[in-house]
Amino acid sequence: MVAVPAHVDVVVIGAGQAGLSVAYYLQRLGVRSGVDQVILDRGPGAGGAWQHRWEALRLGSAHRVHDLPGMRRAGITFETADRSRPARDVVGEYYGHYERFFGLDVRRPVTVAAVYDRGADLVVRTTAGEITTRVVVNATGTWGAPFVPYYPGVRDFAGRQVHTSTYRDAADFAGLRVLVVGGGTSAIGFLLELEGVAAKTFWATRRPVEYLDQGTLDLEAAVAAVDQQDAAARSGRALPSIVSGTGVPKTRRIAAAIERGVLAPRPMFDHLEREAVVWPDGSRERIDAIVWATGFRPDIRHLSPLRLHEKAGGVQVTSGAAERDPRIFFAGYGPTASTIGANRAGRTLARQVFAALGETTAPVEATPDTITAVLQVPKEPDPQDHVAQLMARFFTDA
Ligand SMILES: Cc1cc2nc3c(=O)[nH]c(=O)nc-3n(C[C@H](O)[C@H](O)[C@H](O)COP(=O)(O)OP(=O)(O)OC[C@H]3O[C@@H](n4cnc5c(N)ncnc54)[C@H](O)[C@@H]3O)c2cc1C
Repeated sequence: MVAVPAHVDVVVIGAGQAGLSVAYYLQRLGVRSGVDQVILDRGPGAGGAWQHRWEALRLGSAHRVHDLPGMRRAGITFETADRSRPARDVVGEYYGHYERFFGLDVRRPVTVAAVYDRGADLVVRTTAGEITTRVVVNATGTWGAPFVPYYPGVRDFAGRQVHTSTYRDAADFAGLRVLVVGGGTSAIGFLLELEGVAAKTFWATRRPVEYLDQGTLDLEAAVAAVDQQDAAARSGRALPSIVSGTGVPKTRRIAAAIERGVLAPRPMFDHLEREAVVWPDGSRERIDAIVWATGFRPDIRHLSPLRLHEKAGGVQVTSGAAERDPRIFFAGYGPTASTIGANRAGRTLARQVFAALGETTAPVEATPDTITAVLQVPKEPDPQDHVAQLMARFFTDA
């Protein structure tokens, strides 16, 4: 049975890329893992959301998984990892090694059910007991909050329906007529996997898919799209889709599939029937299954007792923390959601958390290492980092 401490200065919720990155930098700032901070994760093993991804998603077919900060010091890097292995296995192993090497204290499986405001302290209610804390870093990602839009007739449809989060194997669709919904990279990946396995595939997207030639990513569009995320988070609006603002990078594999006619999107259907999809022009196709590659939303239900949501539909996050309660920090939310940008996002956020701790009654002791680490934190993310974050975000939309 996993135990949790009764009190720590910082509770990090989530041991994915974002949570581990913040915890690592906090540790360097002198906020000791297992003593001053603890990381809680509901997953059975290391790897964040990656551990739940389908087997066919190989490290080499994922867009790119970026190293955690300091990973090379731990003797590992994704750059030399076996790209033919399932991404979930490699990321799980590497993150596990990273946690052990840097002594990051992850308690799992521990689910955070709710976070309450008890005046001077926050109370984190978990499946392993309650923790009082001064600061919460929420790094819970999106995997636990799949999004499926409502379409007329969806409840009448009698066939099989899966979402990206529950998709396991193309073989599950052998011989079936499958409708894939969504305009991101996951939808494209599913269509490619289903080719030659499903009897036939159909592809519906809300907007026309805009492909970008590899290597010619429109820098302006990229920066603008991440800025849109930032603006939404700052004003408390629901986070917009990144892909819709930028397009999908056209890899050689995708270009070849377009040539073969495998990737032929149609505008969103009008409605569903028991065994069919009905297109806007009234024509219908019999289908046996639907794969909803329609994205995710921030998984923050456990924060609802804090009433952080604005009327506009999102949480207002400025300087890394919720405007309504500056003790709640967000890692991997809005413009900081990425694997490639997580290093800097983690570093910046750790510094902000550290500053918040210093403003309260029992500041963490500064050591020479702490001071060096604080000085090394860049003040503003540079545009390249924005682009990097964007590239990783292609997938959270998928
Ligand atoms: C299909 C798909 C493919 C992707 N491919 C790529 C890619 O190739 N390259 C790339 O850079 N990015 C990719 N991404 C995006 C990438 O997954 C994210 O940028 C990154 O992994 C998110 O990290 P995170 O730490 O924010 O969240 P996660 O990895 O989701 O970690 C969140 C952690 O929080 C835990 N948690 C959640 N809620 C609770 C709770 N209430 N209590 C306790 N623990 C909780 C979860 O167990 C999980 O371990 C992809 C995303 C998807 C959906």
